[in-house]
Amino acid sequence: MHELSLAGNVLDIVAQAAAAQGFTQVRVLRLSVPALAGVEVAALRFALDALAPGTALEAARIEIDQPPGRARCADCLREVELRDRLDPCPACGGLRLRVLGGSALRVVELLVPETADAVAGEDRGAGRCA
Ligand SMILES: [Zn+2]
Repeated sequence: MHELSLAGNVLDIVAQAAAAQGFTQVRVLRLSVPALAGVEVAALRFALDALAPGTALEAARIEIDQPPGRARCADCLREVELRDRLDPCPACGGLRLRVLGGSALRVVELLVPETADAVAGEDRGAGRCA
């Protein structure tokens, strides 16, 4: 199951950040799961819930953003936002769209109880589905 391995990647990132920053529990974890990532958010949540016990995510509130992806249309040459990889170009209805990125799940923010500061906001991909 795809979402299970992504959840494992997220846990790895959290574990690395925990080791590097010296925290043991996460208060809030915010993930970005772009609309074009091909990730079932409900399944991802389920997988994270299943894997979290005994990890730094055990008591964390997990927030998942779903920004639209970006693509360039080969017909009208516009750069457009896409909610679904199979959608036609919203500007001209063309179907020849090339995804420009924004299709990888990543950890956006990680808050820990001690300081409530974001400690892992850097752009780290947890998985890519091209
Ligand atoms: Zn177009």
